[in-house]
Amino acid sequence: MSVHRRPNFVFILTDDHASNAISAYGSVVNTTPGIDAIAEAGMRFDRALVENSLCTPSRAAILTGTYSHTSAVTTLSTQLSNDHETFITALKAAGYRTAMFGKWHLGHGEGYDPTGFDHWEVLPDQGEYFDPQFLTADGPVQHEGYVTDVLTERALSWMAEQGDEPYCVLVWHKAPHRPWLPHPRHSDLFTDPIPLPPTFDDDYEGRGTPAHHATMRIADYLADVDLKQQPPTELDYAERAVWKYQRYMQDYLRCVAAVDESVQALTGFLTENGQFDDTVTVYGSDQGFYLGEHGWFDKRFMYEESLRMPLVLSYPSRVAAGRASDTLVSNVDIAQTILDFAGVAAPAAMQGASLAPMLTGEDPAPVRAAHYYRFYEHDDHMHHVWAHYGIRTERYKLIYFYADGMGLPNASNVTYPPEWELFDLEKDPHELHSMHLDPAYSGIRDELTLQLWDLQLALGDSPHPRQPVPEGRTS
Ligand code: CA
Repeated sequence: MSVHRRPNFVFILTDDHASNAISAYGSVVNTTPGIDAIAEAGMRFDRALVENSLCTPSRAAILTGTYSHTSAVTTLSTQLSNDHETFITALKAAGYRTAMFGKWHLGHGEGYDPTGFDHWEVLPDQGEYFDPQFLTADGPVQHEGYVTDVLTERALSWMAEQGDEPYCVLVWHKAPHRPWLPHPRHSDLFTDPIPLPPTFDDDYEGRGTPAHHATMRIADYLADVDLKQQPPTELDYAERAVWKYQRYMQDYLRCVAAVDESVQALTGFLTENGQFDDTVTVYGSDQGFYLGEHGWFDKRFMYEESLRMPLVLSYPSRVAAGRASDTLVSNVDIAQTILDFAGVAAPAAMQGASLAPMLTGEDPAPVRAAHYYRFYEHDDHMHHVWAHYGIRTERYKLIYFYADGMGLPNASNVTYPPEWELFDLEKDPHELHSMHLDPAYSGIRDELTLQLWDLQLALGDSPHPRQPVPEGRTS
């Protein structure tokens, strides 16, 4: 292999940005020229999946390259101990300049502050959209302005100071997280009706209790703080649902518009300074999000819209332009991919795979046959999604709702009877009909059950005690 200049890394991560609101992924509701340009200059991952569809655990998985049971960051209220090695600590040890701007949401104070960064400015918890306060190594500071713009300006200012030494900067936006407060300059956008997704009126008939139990329906659970206006009183239930969807999407997509401007500013800086070709530029989101699919907003479920994160990456000096990949990749792969491109050995605790050989074309082989998922925050006070785990293969998805909070922070300890779901994604891409009890699927069901059992143990996690031991295995 030839010797390459050590690349810079510009890693833009947003919060709750669904692929269905990115034109590179075929959005029918908006355009995102800045994100699209990264995809066109490099690779778009169409099956990038998170291991736990929630802000805090996903961020821990991205930084540490490990699953939630390894990082111990399982819920919104578990913090990332700075005992864990991350791709940042490894890059810093290898001589990289490192900085972080934006949403951290992994804990604060001794033992939990951002670690391995030469410079950091992070929002306390979720942070504010306007005139945000930041925590820094020197104490709190406040900046006037809109959070997406402030983060971009702070990051650009730091990047301009770096000279020729390789650097890694994380620009981790708060947007487009709830409560979706856009900048007034975007208030004229999206005033035409926004198309409804095909599953907007889903009644969950083909699935078990968990989909019925969740409190994520736009029609019923978007609050005044989300809508910022009262629905017209003359609307019936169905009309009010559509009205709420429009209000939700207007603000969500306006927040995304500012994010895309940030992406354009950051890549514009790289281009103007001759750095774009030797920089690994990453755009991703900490999970997917429901934009009215199944009638929902929010995330948490292992269903496709929240399982799948947008992930595009460019590195023109080593990665060919304009490709898309539908191989199964995970948020735990990002850390090792970055370290591989930097020529830095990955810490032994990391559990993903480097995607660099696939990106450069040196080895296009898939990195896994099945993706493992686990959501711990059982029946939380926000959205009442049951705890579950499962696997997704190229064609199928098996989910076990063990439905037990197991005393975890922020989770209910109310236990419901466990339930299984099985989807044939080729025949049923919208996951409307679980085939778990269908005799025609008994063979694939048993195969997937074994595959889940084996993968879970291989990754060092434990099956829930309520799950029956599959035939051919011992507990
Ligand atoms: Ca999130």
